[in-house]
Amino acid sequence: YRYNNFYEVVFDHGRRHPRRKALFVGEKTIRYGELLKKVDAFAGTLHHLGIEPEDRVALFMRNSWEFIVAVLAISKVGGITVPINTFLKADELSYILEDSGAKILIASAVHEKVVHDSIAGEKMERIIWEGGLRLADEKNLSFEEALSQNLQCKPVMRTLDDLAVFFYTSGTTGKPKGAMLSYKNILSNAESGSRLLHITHRDRTIVFLPMFHAFTFSIGLILPLYVGGGIVIIQSLRPFSNIFKQALLKRVTIFFGVPDVYNALAKAKLPWYFMAFNKIRIFVSGAAPLQSKTLEAMRAKFRRAKMLEGYGLSESSPAVCINPLHKQKDRSVGPAMPGYQVKIVDENMVELPRGEVGEIILFGDNVMQGYLNRPEATAETIINGWLCTGDMGTMDEEGYLYIVDRKKDLIISKGINIYPREIEDLIDRFPGVGASAVIGIPDEKNGEVPVAYIEPEEGERPDVTKLKAHLREHLANFKIPRKFYITEALPKNATGKVLKRVLKEQLLQQEN
Ligand code: ATP
Repeated sequence: YRYNNFYEVVFDHGRRHPRRKALFVGEKTIRYGELLKKVDAFAGTLHHLGIEPEDRVALFMRNSWEFIVAVLAISKVGGITVPINTFLKADELSYILEDSGAKILIASAVHEKVVHDSIAGEKMERIIWEGGLRLADEKNLSFEEALSQNLQCKPVMRTLDDLAVFFYTSGTTGKPKGAMLSYKNILSNAESGSRLLHITHRDRTIVFLPMFHAFTFSIGLILPLYVGGGIVIIQSLRPFSNIFKQALLKRVTIFFGVPDVYNALAKAKLPWYFMAFNKIRIFVSGAAPLQSKTLEAMRAKFRRAKMLEGYGLSESSPAVCINPLHKQKDRSVGPAMPGYQVKIVDENMVELPRGEVGEIILFGDNVMQGYLNRPEATAETIINGWLCTGDMGTMDEEGYLYIVDRKKDLIISKGINIYPREIEDLIDRFPGVGASAVIGIPDEKNGEVPVAYIEPEEGERPDVTKLKAHLREHLANFKIPRKFYITEALPKNATGKVLKRVLKEQLLQQEN
């Protein structure tokens, strides 16, 4: 690797290429030289506040240049960054602050209420506020103040094996667990990803997904910084038009999104000048399955750009696979990225022949160090260095991986496995359907049976009778959902992943 930690990245580019543009936020541009100065200033304050190697600093921040400055400065003083999902409620925030043992919280003023309702006031030594501060006192300090204190400190030597970040898994399946990642873990993603997609300092990426998410953090922020490229920061997904305006104005070349974004993009009417003059060469989709109809629509719309689906999880820094530039396969998330290995295994961890469905396990520098405070969960997840993903998949002869479903979402009916994604794919393609989710519910006779939730496309009402008939043509009887519920909006997390756990809870409540 070219660097040992995040601070070295900005130190190197800041010294060698101070005039190079690093961050774009609205009208503002921050060059690498200036970024380094800000990082040094902020690190000085962190050091002064007593942050020492291995101390945890939690971030509860909206997308901002301050987020990036904080991450790089924490690295300089040897601390560990704990990015927290800002969609969480006070109790959940408290849980993570407690579990991670954070000393300092850096929060955005727009999230003041949640922070105040959490244990932050009581447990944190300091709270640093980005974007406004009502009251400066012993505990609270503003980001600007922290920058302007003119304090200096020496960098703490951090090596590749030191801990860099704790990502709390988004919790679609239970209480959040902190995946502990080292610098090697995350930088391996930057190294492998940038090589594979030929991303250099000439590229500009656009970041509109939340920065606290592993996908945005590693691939959207650390990767472009690693190569000395530019990052166009967008605070939120809406208005959608703003993303495209900025992408055009700032000559964005790399666009990282999630399926929800591409669903909207595939349908959006974009102005002709955007279509003619945008410089986007790669669209990457990850975090959740991309519907085939979206992939096709994106390809038809952006003929000059490549649409690449990838796969990853917080526990693996997060990227594992991606379709390479030279050869993409439909429905596949691509082969393992350079330096990583992927296998499909049975319950006994024995590798299965190509084409058979089993659990996806992986090996490489991206595999986390373990879950914080959870030795048992760690031992169940990492076996002989291989990370068990909890995802089911198959692999073809060329090593391209196909995600079948999550192991936990599997429906077992009369002892036969039903993979919801297969059913969802068919439902999603039916006229009038926006998105769908199939879950298993307990059934006396069969053990479990599938039921479907459907989110119609705006202003549409899909014909359920016809949909059922359509499914019968393509699926065995036991796979046909017993019930179809039309819902205005499926419950989703910050990256647009459907929260099946919430659907199941809702259904059980309805029935009782
Ligand atoms: P939790 O582990 O608490 O349930 P989470 O799994 O949502 O939370 P993440 O690490 O954000 O936490 O998500 C990783 C998961 O996302 C993978 O294990 C996989 O199931 C899913 N995933 C990621 N990329 C894809 C993809 N391209 N296609 C299908 N599923 C994907």
